[in-house]
Amino acid sequence: MKLTLLVTLATLLSASARPTSRATADDCAVCTIKTPYPAVDSYLNGNCRWAAATNKRDPTFLPTLATAQHPPLLWIGCADSRVPETVITKKRPGDIFVHRNIANQFHPEDDSANAVLNYGVLHVGVSDVVVVGHTSCGGAKAAYEAVHPPAAAPAGHRRDEAAAAANDGSDHLNRFLAPLIDIAKGLPGNSTIDDLIVANVKKGVENVVASITIKAAWAQGKNVTVHGWVYHLDTGLITDLGVSRGRV
Ligand SMILES: [Zn+2]
Repeated sequence: MKLTLLVTLATLLSASARPTSRATADDCAVCTIKTPYPAVDSYLNGNCRWAAATNKRDPTFLPTLATAQHPPLLWIGCADSRVPETVITKKRPGDIFVHRNIANQFHPEDDSANAVLNYGVLHVGVSDVVVVGHTSCGGAKAAYEAVHPPAAAPAGHRRDEAAAAANDGSDHLNRFLAPLIDIAKGLPGNSTIDDLIVANVKKGVENVVASITIKAAWAQGKNVTVHGWVYHLDTGLITDLGVSRGRV
């Protein structure tokens, strides 16, 4: 049963839908996809041109990648559109296994994050896990302002917001941010949002290290190391926080 599930998962993750034909360089000229949804057309046409250019540069790259994946790195990052892990590290498809969510959090009870960690470490075989925060993080700002309100909102306004959250799905977001708000509450009163961003990464590293998956990997002798980084939107550079934890 367990094996069947893993085989099915491996199939899903390593060999997604197989196209019946591959785009070629000549297809560039015909990347003129038009759908009833103009907002997505540029993405479909961009994919068409990317596939063509990639196949032209190395006709074996994508077919080889389709057979298996061996990324050395698992990236646990924020969903923010400005932090595309493969682009900012100058890597290619197949180089990074990824989990992204609001404010790059790793909660011990989060099945989604734990499933990615488990599959990435014990089955894909990543050797390094990085928890990556970033400056100007909207999730961190929201958590920070829950503790340090920028201006006192009238009580009636707060009640209205709570009622709206129950009706529009924001409850999910509020629940997901709760652990980050707890981190903000635990920081000194004069802390900044950047302090919270760093503290959140450090907590994420702690939680990953304390996970059953990492304990099992280390017990099996796997040399998996967990790191904490912060990406700076304004410079494009990553800072290593120096909190790496390896097998003990
Ligand atoms: Zn963010």
